[in-house]
Amino acid sequence: MKKITIVGGGAAALLFAAHIDTTKYKVTLCEQKKTLGRKFLVAGEGGLNLTYETNLASLIKPYVPNEFMAPIVSQFTNKDLIRWLENLDVPTFVGSSNRVFPERGIKPIEVLNKITSYIAGKDVQIRLNTQWLGWDKEGYLRFDKGLKIDSDIVVFALGGASWKVTGSDGAWKEKFEEKGINVQPLRAANCAFEVAWGEEFIGAHEGKPLKNIALTFGNQKVKGELSISKFGLEGNAIYALSREIQMTLLLRKEAIVHLDLKPGLTIAQLKAKYNGSRQTKVTSVLSKELNLDRTSIGLLKQFCDKNTFSNPDLLLHTVKAVPIKLKSPGPLDEAISTMGGIALDEVDPNFQIKKMANSYAIGEMLDWYAPTGGYLLQGCFSMGFALANFLNGLNVEE
Ligand SMILES: Cc1cc2nc3c(=O)[nH]c(=O)nc-3n(C[C@H](O)[C@H](O)[C@H](O)COP(=O)(O)OP(=O)(O)OC[C@H]3O[C@@H](n4cnc5c(N)ncnc54)[C@H](O)[C@@H]3O)c2cc1C
Repeated sequence: MKKITIVGGGAAALLFAAHIDTTKYKVTLCEQKKTLGRKFLVAGEGGLNLTYETNLASLIKPYVPNEFMAPIVSQFTNKDLIRWLENLDVPTFVGSSNRVFPERGIKPIEVLNKITSYIAGKDVQIRLNTQWLGWDKEGYLRFDKGLKIDSDIVVFALGGASWKVTGSDGAWKEKFEEKGINVQPLRAANCAFEVAWGEEFIGAHEGKPLKNIALTFGNQKVKGELSISKFGLEGNAIYALSREIQMTLLLRKEAIVHLDLKPGLTIAQLKAKYNGSRQTKVTSVLSKELNLDRTSIGLLKQFCDKNTFSNPDLLLHTVKAVPIKLKSPGPLDEAISTMGGIALDEVDPNFQIKKMANSYAIGEMLDWYAPTGGYLLQGCFSMGFALANFLNGLNVEE
């Protein structure tokens, strides 16, 4: 029987292990931490958003580069994932904004346990506390404690480089580069961005949310939420633009996003409300007629000069597009995902690393991007499934 070694025990590896045909392959999974799926559990801390409920065309749309990711996600879609989890006795529900979560009351650790028990039942050998260090002279996989593994096929699923405490430390980058493989720099994605808030503003509004807003950068507009931190801005609206903002910050010292505090109303509608008001103070018009909270009004004060604030026309245009300067991305270790990784032209459409015979790479260690909303786990799961499906179809006796 041909031997497969999976290196890494996160989301992509687990889905691969769950779908690989163990009557055809002898499978061993090596994970450097003492438990599997640590980042999966971290992801669950704010609610385990497993995937996104929508039709296939809009499911695949946010993935970048789309031509690489779309065929993969199409092979194992949100519907396939939900059905598969249901078969594992993990029912799901569609929450706010179409995000899919495990049914209320089911903890992330229970979901992880269902997946790992299923894998264990398939006779996959799991080696925990087993850190991959590289290759030896003969090309065998080299691990800590002197362990060497000779394997017919290797599946690398080593993750990105954020939340190092979970084991996704990006230390694999140099090892692949030494083999002549192009690894794009690992940078924060779906991350916070720095804003130079005024002292008074941040003193009053640190930690405050901005709900039902829209954020524009370049030609992309995203509806969602933001939260104000001492460092700057966080939240799904800015995460969704993080890739483009990061690209701009590589070229320029700052990037300007425009915040729409009233995405449901046009300028004309705002004007009608403003002009029809009996309030005499600008802040009262903003709060009573436009329903803006203290933080939104504080933001307007911070980003408008006196002249703009007292001119209804200019002020209402600013309500629809508060210009906020972003200076730098937040630290990589605090990011939800990682940009960069093994360049996609280093792998074929079945994830085979072109310069390394019988070696494959899946998950966040490849250079692709998706926003939050369940797209990241879905992308990793789809890759695990697609690779297992490909290897299951090979005639391994040849
Ligand atoms: C705070 C946070 C919240 C998130 N929330 C969500 C969410 O709600 N929905 C969503 O879709 N996504 C979410 N994500 C993103 C998602 O968790 C990741 O995209 C996904 O887990 C990546 O899966 P992976 O298999 O590629 O890598 P990982 O899950 O990172 O797994 C890689 C594994 O490889 C192991 N490894 C690394 N190096 C070695 C080595 N040398 N030897 C052996 N093992 C090694 C690591 O220990 C790790 O277990 C979140 C991420 C974070 C940080």
